[in-house]
Amino acid sequence: MYLTETVAMDCYDVVRQLWDFLDGELTDESMDAIRAHLAQCRQCYPQFDFERTFLDALAATRREHPAPNMVRRKVLAKLRTAGLDV
Ligand SMILES: [Zn+2]
Repeated sequence: MYLTETVAMDCYDVVRQLWDFLDGELTDESMDAIRAHLAQCRQCYPQFDFERTFLDALAATRREHPAPNMVRRKVLAKLRTAGLDV
């Protein structure tokens, strides 16, 4: 059995595109590749899980009171400080 190129996708590439993946903004091919990678990679999955949970929480907050841009900027700055590529 061969590892397809999609499964062999690099962790760095996956993490770099994770936010776009969660927003559904990638091509079908990239979406599938990342989905396949996450299904197998123990290193990337916690990152994916964290970002998805974060976005869910953010969406829930936004529904109740629209987040001012200031808050959004602060959150993004914090994530960047934590080493996330956002
Ligand atoms: Zn990975």
